[in-house]
Amino acid sequence: MKERFFKITDNIWVVKKAGFCFGVERSLKIANEALDRALREGINAYSIGKLIHNSYVVNSLERRGLKVRGIEDVEDGSIVVFRSHGVPRQYYDIAKRKGLIVFDATCPLVQNAQRIVKKLTEEGKNVIIIGDVHHPEVKAMVSYAVGNSKVKVMEPTHVLKGEYERGAEYVFQTTANRDVLEFLKRAGENVHDTICNATKERQRDSVELAKVVNVMVVVGGKDSSNTTKVYQKCKVINNNTYFVQDWEEFQKLGLPHRKDLIYGFTAGASTPREQIIDIARKWAEVLGMKVVA
Ligand code: SF4
Repeated sequence: MKERFFKITDNIWVVKKAGFCFGVERSLKIANEALDRALREGINAYSIGKLIHNSYVVNSLERRGLKVRGIEDVEDGSIVVFRSHGVPRQYYDIAKRKGLIVFDATCPLVQNAQRIVKKLTEEGKNVIIIGDVHHPEVKAMVSYAVGNSKVKVMEPTHVLKGEYERGAEYVFQTTANRDVLEFLKRAGENVHDTICNATKERQRDSVELAKVVNVMVVVGGKDSSNTTKVYQKCKVINNNTYFVQDWEEFQKLGLPHRKDLIYGFTAGASTPREQIIDIARKWAEVLGMKVVA
């Protein structure tokens, strides 16, 4: 228990690994470097799409001057930051054409998945990406198909129902559920493991905690794919699982003030750790519990 969770009070536990992964930490460092340069040189800095799926973080960067824009909407010569889950390949050409100064915060694991799509399509292989077709990471991955190859995107649920193509090369959104990869592997398909361990570890530890608490709380942006998956997995295990963006939303849950229950708190990889701890501590205060961490 102790290696994976820590206590805020005797009845409130937090998943140790919950919070930023290294890819998100790195993207914030890059965004702050971009802002420093923008300030030094007196030019505007933009994040092309939200840097990460967490409004708490996006708003605080915006207060420092990092505005969220589409790449065609920024003025020539300005600074742009490419988000952690990647941008379509064409954006690098647009940036060149507009003379933009690029700070590329694409996570190295996302870049690896993009490289695999590129390589397989160069070899003329039939590539299928397992993930959410509407997610920017998947759209960016699709853009890495070269030549005449077209990659398809398939939802994990279809695969698990047996509705998949035999003999294709399978690449995965980094936040995909590992079950689908294992399923395809067992079926003898060619899988390229592009699923991120940070996602796997957060899901595993969150599910373990959900099994032993009465109430489970997942903190994070509703548009965060990996936080949503943590929520879905916990909800299957523990029906008293709630997904909140912030303390205001948590309060609106109207949970009974019961000190006899055990509460668990967790998040995906795009929620700041201090935000999770802050909500857990505030709840402890509301319940009148002694905070130990
Ligand atoms: S969850 Fe994984 S792939 Fe996504 S940004 Fe973090 S380290 Fe990178």
